[in-house]
Amino acid sequence: MKFGSYTFLPQKANGFDFHVLRVKQETGIRLTPVQDMCSNIAVFADNVAVHNNPEWISQSSLGPAKMGNPNYNIYWDIVCATQPQHRAEQLRYITDVDRKSAAIWLNNQYFADHGHCICPRCNELWKKSGLGWLEWRRKEITDYIAQVREIVKKELVLCIQPDPMTSYERYGVNFDDLAKYADAFNVVMFSKNYATPWYWEMLARGFKKLLKKPFYISLYVFGPGDNPKDVPSTSELLNVSVRCARAGADGFLYLTEGASQIQAFQKAALKEVELRARLRNYGRKPVQEFLDFVANWEKIV
Ligand SMILES: [Zn+2]
Repeated sequence: MKFGSYTFLPQKANGFDFHVLRVKQETGIRLTPVQDMCSNIAVFADNVAVHNNPEWISQSSLGPAKMGNPNYNIYWDIVCATQPQHRAEQLRYITDVDRKSAAIWLNNQYFADHGHCICPRCNELWKKSGLGWLEWRRKEITDYIAQVREIVKKELVLCIQPDPMTSYERYGVNFDDLAKYADAFNVVMFSKNYATPWYWEMLARGFKKLLKKPFYISLYVFGPGDNPKDVPSTSELLNVSVRCARAGADGFLYLTEGASQIQAFQKAALKEVELRARLRNYGRKPVQEFLDFVANWEKIV
C-alpha cells in the first residue's frame, strides 16, 4: 500500500511515499512543475481556455458545461473533449510537464458528463464514425488517452470519478480501455464529510471488482479557503480510510492546500489513540498496514 500527499502548493509533507502537486487545476491556473513531485493536470476542465475561447465549451441539450449549470455537478468550465486545438496544446503541455516532474496524474480527461458533447464538430465526428453515440464517445476518449500514453515516459495515473456504474454513459470512460494505458487509477472520493463510511467502502469494493490496474483513493482533508468547521473530521478520515483499505484500495492520497494542513492532520490522527486501537479490529493485512503507516508519523511530526 502506498500513500501520497495531494496539494495545491508545491510543498512536500514528511511521512508519505510520494507527493502529487496540482500543477494545472480546473481553474486553468498553471504552476511550475517540481522534479520530484508528481504533476496533476486537469485536461478538459479549464476555465482559462473557455474564457479565452468561449466557443470551445462542451455543449448538451441541458446547456453548456459551464460552472453553475444546475443540470450537472459541474464546478468549472469544461472544454469539448474533441476540440482539436485544446487537445494538441494539452499534449504539448503534458510532454513538457512529464520531463519536469516525477509522474503524470491526469483528471478530467473525458467528456463533461452525460449528454455531452453535441457541438457541430462532435455531431459530425459521430456521424462519420458509423458508431452508436456512446461507443463513439468511448472511442474519442480511449484514442486520446492512447496518444497521451505515447508521450508520457514516466508513470501515468488516470483519475476516475467515484461512479463505478455509469462512467461509460456519463464520461465516455471504459475502465478496461483505460487500464491498457494507465499504470494506476486514482478514484477521487472528495467530500466535505465522510459521515457514512459504509457507502465509500461500497464504492471501493465496486472499483476493486472492476479495475484491472491498481487504484488509489483520494480523500479530502482541507482545501484552499476552507473553514475548519466545514472539513471532514480526523476520525471520519481514519474510519473511511480503514474501510476502503479493507475493501482493496491499493493506496491513499490526502488532499490539502499545502504541507501545514497535512501536518495538522497527521498530529490529529496520532491523537486518536482509542479510535486507532478500535480500528485494528476492522480487518487484517491492509487495515494493519494503513494503521502502521499512521503510527509511523510519530517519528516525524
Ligand atoms: Zn463537442
